[in-house]
Amino acid sequence: MDINWKSLPFGYVKTDYNLRSYFKDGTWSAPEASASEEITLHIAATCLHYGQEIFEGLKAFRGKDGKIRLFRPEENGKRFANSAKGLLMQPFPIELFVESCKKVVKLNERFVPPYGDGASLYIRPLLVGTSPQVGVSPAREYMFLIFATPVGPYFKEGFKPIKMQIVRDFDRVAPLGTGKFKAGGNYAASLQATERGHDEGFSSVLFLDVKEKRYVDEAGPANFFGIKNNTYVTPSSNTILDSITNMSLCQLAADIGLKVERRAIEVDELGTFEEVGACGTAAVISPIGTIVDRETGKVYEYCKDGNAGKISTQLYNYLRQIQEGGTEDKFGWNTLV
Ligand SMILES: *Cc1c(COP(=O)(O)O)cnc(C)c1O
Repeated sequence: MDINWKSLPFGYVKTDYNLRSYFKDGTWSAPEASASEEITLHIAATCLHYGQEIFEGLKAFRGKDGKIRLFRPEENGKRFANSAKGLLMQPFPIELFVESCKKVVKLNERFVPPYGDGASLYIRPLLVGTSPQVGVSPAREYMFLIFATPVGPYFKEGFKPIKMQIVRDFDRVAPLGTGKFKAGGNYAASLQATERGHDEGFSSVLFLDVKEKRYVDEAGPANFFGIKNNTYVTPSSNTILDSITNMSLCQLAADIGLKVERRAIEVDELGTFEEVGACGTAAVISPIGTIVDRETGKVYEYCKDGNAGKISTQLYNYLRQIQEGGTEDKFGWNTLV
């Protein structure tokens, strides 16, 4: 095997096996390993026509001690079941989800990157409606798939401040819609804004609340947080996908003595934060250096010395250390494979 771990992109690399489980006649089949990268689907499957598709993303890390750790897989399992319910799909049992995560890592153990390069094994579970429907209604049959692929750090430049753009002429989701579920359709709906943002020189976009365009909502495919006066503040909104990274950062922030607030953040408040960032499994934290409001032209600047803020850096290191077994897992977040 010839993988240059240090220059691994955040992309797809073929591994040895994926797992598949099928829901039919009221039960899930035991997940079976497959060496094929392809699936066969009915041309009228609901996932193809009516968007019955949800997914998850989590990582396995090789520690300094050589052990492989999965970060909070039961939380992904719970969220996966919740997303399924939101799209009227058959939820995949949480225990079977965790077991499948462990198994897919074991089967592809030789692809778990070595400790120290910031690379990891990314695990992608997904659930799709497979039985045919022409009228709009939920499928009766479902397929659960889980594959693993080694990934490098999300940002090649490393832990460096990024540029974000506030968009007001696109919405990712609707106020009472599917924003709180990890559905592929939400991503399709965010592509136009995100690609334009990239073209205009930004790493990601910041979506505002859909109703009033007054509050900060999602930071593209990540949650948003701000830090000021020794307080970690993150938006609470029912159009946000509850990030497991954010939930973990809230706990770590409290652990290092910060206050934690989950509340609405007005766009105008952006100017008052000492540090801001985006968080999610892919990068853990992406420190934000600049936010430009595309419509008003207003610019918010942070990290003026070009480096991530002190508290963001501390939180990032704390979480990464837990994930790699470099410090005590005092909240019991890791599952050993
Ligand atoms: C997956 C996702 C996140 C991040 O969640 P994590 O559990 O931290 O990976 C944030 N926002 C959206 C829209 C997402 O899909």
